[in-house]
Amino acid sequence: MSALLTKALNEREEIVDIETVVPGKFCNCICPNCKKPLIAKNRKPLEEAKREHHFAHYKGCLCEASDETVLHQLAKEIIVEEKSLMFPVSEHGDKPSGLVHFVKVEQEKRDEKFGFRPDVEAIMENGERILIEFYVSHEIPPKKRNIIVKNNLKCIEVDLNYVTIGKREIRSFLLDESENRSWIEAAEPLTQGESKENYSLYSRNPWHIKAIEYLKKQFDEGEITIGRNSSIYNLREYGYDICELSKMYRKFRLDLLLYRSKKENKGRISLSVRGRRRNQGHKTPTDLRVIDIIIRNESDYNRLIERDNICCTDDFIMYEGFNFNLKNLTHSNTVSQ
Ligand SMILES: [Zn+2]
Repeated sequence: MSALLTKALNEREEIVDIETVVPGKFCNCICPNCKKPLIAKNRKPLEEAKREHHFAHYKGCLCEASDETVLHQLAKEIIVEEKSLMFPVSEHGDKPSGLVHFVKVEQEKRDEKFGFRPDVEAIMENGERILIEFYVSHEIPPKKRNIIVKNNLKCIEVDLNYVTIGKREIRSFLLDESENRSWIEAAEPLTQGESKENYSLYSRNPWHIKAIEYLKKQFDEGEITIGRNSSIYNLREYGYDICELSKMYRKFRLDLLLYRSKKENKGRISLSVRGRRRNQGHKTPTDLRVIDIIIRNESDYNRLIERDNICCTDDFIMYEGFNFNLKNLTHSNTVSQ
């Protein structure tokens, strides 16, 4: 991400890109950080320009806003406005999970007791305090991290590096998705096998729960189908007779794990209901067929129901990690990437 400022606010307070505005002083843009007028440095074609196109402050202005600071600023503003954040699923039910509403939110409030300033301090309905740290170019500094870990503060770090600068985009990232955020914790010894699930303490995206329930019901009723092009495969007919919910497999979280009792665990298929696509380079176990079902909201859920099969041609379904060869469902057990 650029250390320059390439986004600004227009007269309607909307975020605009440097490439879309009139060059020079008449761009009618203000800085999203200090709210002072800006000059658009985008007159020369990029090939001839000395620097990349950007917005500049007038001389004498000390504001050092860049795209990074804008992203950071907007994320804080949105949390304060919306008083909500989508949390990742809590493996042990001991942390907030899913979309959580706060009763009070403050930004950049100094914590006198521990001597640091979290980006956002949020209070949940049960009175519990959650700290939110946004990470653009720099991870949370080690000193701050140590305070958080040592005092067992509940602090979630949200990585904004993959978000487009725009209020709508950031809002959707913070409220509809649960990716790219993790709790600041001391490194824990890794545990193998199943984890205890308990969603009763905190909420989870209700559409994810409904989608998982729907898929389990399909399976229990004898038909769970995957469609590709015009072919429909009923996994039941391919010997998949066991479906377990909420399993951990090699540190990989599975919403539904399908496998065949007759062939032991061979040919494991993981169905995961997620809020967004995985980041590029995300590693999945090589002996696991992973199917991600992207459910962002009610309409994604309705599409899943209407279609009545898990179809990989749509944007809310995808296969990750390997080329999913449906023809081989009957005999393939080891999968190479
Ligand atoms: Zn500024």
